[in-house]
Amino acid sequence: MSDTPSLIRRTPWPQGASRPVVTPLQPSVVYASPDPDTLDAQYLGTNPGFTYAREGHPNAEVLAAKIDMLEGAEGGIVTGSGMAAVTAALMGVLSAGDHILGGDQLYGRSLRLMSQDLNRFGIATSLADSTDARAFAAAIRPETKMILLEVVSNPTLRVADFEGIAALARERGILLAVDNTFTTPRGFRPFDHGADIVIHSVTKILAGHSDATLGYVAAKDPALRKAIYDFAVTTGMTASPFDCWLAERGIYTFELRYDRAEANAAALADHLATLPGVRKVLYPTRADHPDHNRAVSLLGARGGHMVSFEIEGGRAQANALTRGAPELAFAPTLGDIGTTVSHPASSSHRNVPLEARAAVGITEGFFRVSVGVEDIELLKSEFTKAVAASQAVRA
Ligand SMILES: *Cc1c(COP(=O)(O)O)cnc(C)c1O
Repeated sequence: MSDTPSLIRRTPWPQGASRPVVTPLQPSVVYASPDPDTLDAQYLGTNPGFTYAREGHPNAEVLAAKIDMLEGAEGGIVTGSGMAAVTAALMGVLSAGDHILGGDQLYGRSLRLMSQDLNRFGIATSLADSTDARAFAAAIRPETKMILLEVVSNPTLRVADFEGIAALARERGILLAVDNTFTTPRGFRPFDHGADIVIHSVTKILAGHSDATLGYVAAKDPALRKAIYDFAVTTGMTASPFDCWLAERGIYTFELRYDRAEANAAALADHLATLPGVRKVLYPTRADHPDHNRAVSLLGARGGHMVSFEIEGGRAQANALTRGAPELAFAPTLGDIGTTVSHPASSSHRNVPLEARAAVGITEGFFRVSVGVEDIELLKSEFTKAVAASQAVRA
């Protein structure tokens, strides 16, 4: 009966003299080895190849290599989300009794991890003003093991005192972990400025098409890299091969998209500032930005693809603004090819007490824009229309 064809046996992949130019999508969970000796050697790392997708798979490896190249990193890993990458970097390295110090305007879920979850595992946390290295120096404790920083904050686009804080971390022997999602390696490369760990939400502009949820984390020190990798594998932070494949496709055009989105953002910021009803515009390289000098010395001309602004009025005016420009997706994310608008008061900061929001300038009239690659004239006219619609409510 051995010659009976079986539906259950895999049909061999067609071989030919040519090869595909596109990276194949490989969803296989398991990999078959010829014998136990070979498998042994694979687990020891003396034989190349994959064993089980949770431990690693080709599409994740190809994507990680691309981001490694952008960040000047080695052996970075791809995770199932940006938050998985943050969690792996922190929980793979810190132990009960350690203290971690973070910037006070971190990404919302990173703030929650710092303020609620880590404490349950005996890891002490505190936050300090990331625009002031002296505030960081004052918050350091003998057991401080790590600093978590974002270069440009969300949504107020404040620029961290990066050089000051990096110098402090170096002096005190504290690990510096940087979430580089906002700045991207096109704007800033943390490893060139003293970072030990670099983290990304690949979901955002690196993948760039709002169709894949992924993260990335890399460490300079191989021992740290191994600790983070083992934690990510043990806790199942595996990235989907399909998402990795989509993100790889997206990343080929990352530099083109970023440059275009950044040029659009700079022009849109200047345009918004001319519109009646716009009270304030925040863009790092504009002369009226509170951290203008630091932005220019740290980022050069690279102001990034995010712009925030505040209109006159409250929730009614905010509702009218988003309804006034339906083509601008009102969605609480960033880094899509198209422009998206978010309203922190009703999304990322909805659980932040009013006084705390007010302290950083987040009012009902405050919007954050992730600028896309559209024609700038289209963007200007859509925002002109939207802001005018918001101010018409008043009349
Ligand atoms: C979105 C984001 C994250 C989380 O990434 P996910 O892929 O959504 O899990 C972390 N940090 C920053 C700065 C982000 O913008």
